[in-house]
Amino acid sequence: MTDEKTTTIRAPRGAEISCRGWQQEAALRMLMNNLDPEVAERPEDLVVYGGTGKAARNWESFWAIVSTLRRLADDETLLVQSGKPVAVFRTNPWAPRVLIANSLLVPDWADWETFRELERAGLTMYGQMTAGSWIYIGTQGILQGTYETFAAVAEQKFGGTLQGRVCLTAGLGGMGGAQPLAVTMNEGVALCVEVDPRRIERRIETGYLDERVDDLDGAVRRAEEAKRNGEPVSIGIPGNAAEIFPALLERGFIPDAVTDQTSAHDPLGGYIPAGYSLEGASELRESDPERYVAEARRSMARHCAAMVGFMRRGAETFDYGNNLRGEAKLGGFKDAFAYPGFVPAYIRPLFCEGKGPFRWAALSGDPQDIAATDEAVLELFPEDGKLARWIHQAREKVRFQGLPARICWLGAGERHKAGLRFNELAAAGEVSAPIVIGRDHLDAGSVASPYRETEAMADGSDAIADWPILNALLNTASGASWVAVHHGGGVGIGKSIHAGAQVVADGTAEGAARVERVLTNDPAIGVARHADAGYAPAREAARRLGLDLPMLDR
Ligand code: NAD
Repeated sequence: MTDEKTTTIRAPRGAEISCRGWQQEAALRMLMNNLDPEVAERPEDLVVYGGTGKAARNWESFWAIVSTLRRLADDETLLVQSGKPVAVFRTNPWAPRVLIANSLLVPDWADWETFRELERAGLTMYGQMTAGSWIYIGTQGILQGTYETFAAVAEQKFGGTLQGRVCLTAGLGGMGGAQPLAVTMNEGVALCVEVDPRRIERRIETGYLDERVDDLDGAVRRAEEAKRNGEPVSIGIPGNAAEIFPALLERGFIPDAVTDQTSAHDPLGGYIPAGYSLEGASELRESDPERYVAEARRSMARHCAAMVGFMRRGAETFDYGNNLRGEAKLGGFKDAFAYPGFVPAYIRPLFCEGKGPFRWAALSGDPQDIAATDEAVLELFPEDGKLARWIHQAREKVRFQGLPARICWLGAGERHKAGLRFNELAAAGEVSAPIVIGRDHLDAGSVASPYRETEAMADGSDAIADWPILNALLNTASGASWVAVHHGGGVGIGKSIHAGAQVVADGTAEGAARVERVLTNDPAIGVARHADAGYAPAREAARRLGLDLPMLDR
């Protein structure tokens, strides 16, 4: 496998397929697309994003998945167990072609230590969210969510714009790299601390970050000048957030908004402790993992304490779904949960409408196909000004990574309309190959994660994990092309259970039926989940959409 291991992976383009149908071909292309060097953070290690989120367990498994997808019949289903293809069963044409379970552990065993032991033994892999379910589309995927979040901050706190406001954050990785552009798209100034200078360069190269300023004083001066001039600009500062955040607080620099997107969910594989170079950290990780975790947690305690300090001095402060608060608390900072997570603070009202990160990719590889879908979405929802602004800005500012793709937040009652329209485009030859449609696991009805998506639920149901399982079962029953259930995405092992589903608009009548059912039901279970938790807007949405919820009025 050595030769294959070093091959650069890139999804095939065009209308010719190497599988027996487009369902299988879509899964194959999206798996490969996840590992395209333009998309993945560390493709040589199969790591796509989010610390160590992988697309396949190892290279042998990767190639075995590829060859199995190529021979898979239209009435067969491939089972993938934590990145390894383990069985093919005869099912039926309506069943998903692939079913995936990643990183799941029995609850009493569900901690990082046990997970790593099993991972070292070659028995599991960390799938994050869209890494192991093959629908990561590069930094754009999170850009829309991050744009929405900063837009909500602007709306709630700053009169609808971030113009003349400084947002401080850290982490410019696969997800975090979207922050600077999301802030400037909202007209603000972003100060982004990143310990790995190569990540800063990468974000500049891809147009997500504007500038790099190496000295802290220079960076502060630049931010203040941009703030005064109302100039949208993003500035990368090389350094460790556990040192730079406290240093900024100490010198009395108080940003308008503060958050963080380092890989804090993983205190061994993700977060770099203060005082270490990247090489030094990697040596310590190998030689003394226990000490590494303790040092990382101590650093996170300082990092988080500085954020609370900013909050106490007036900064709008929120956790960005990486469990920094949880790890900082383990590192000895008792007040870590003083600021809220972004979901209860800004996103839950959208979830009540089944709104979440809907996305699609052009399997042809042709950017014209995404242009056609952009037009279709603009025509379908002319009354949605925010959506139109996003699509126009995305067209101008987002560079595609890997297969051309688009994301936008659509809700229940909307997504199936877009899917059906894409299927019509495929049928009419207005796109040159089918469109694959999917979403993040961070969605209205597909995740249980008490430190993130289900933090502070109205009825206290934060840790109830039945919903993501029901979501996966429902999508399987509805005819999704591939479905995944994962554990530990976003906030880490032991902290979340979540599900993903994809469906292919291939231009056939069967494709239309699959698309309609999956994209109707998948967001609707999000409305049901929030209606069940007692949210009035979700109950209203359920009535408006005519959802059949037997206990809605009890
Ligand atoms: P990533 O591993 O690709 O990037 C993390 C970045 O943080 C890296 O560039 C790393 O060099 C940097 N970093 C690590 N320690 C640092 C420190 N002490 N100071 C400064 N920089 C440091 O991860 P990602 O994909 O960008 O995800 C980031 C976090 O966000 C993860 O914890 C992930 O689980 C979480 N996440 C959030 C959302 C959301 O919607 N909010 C969605 C998915 C993932």
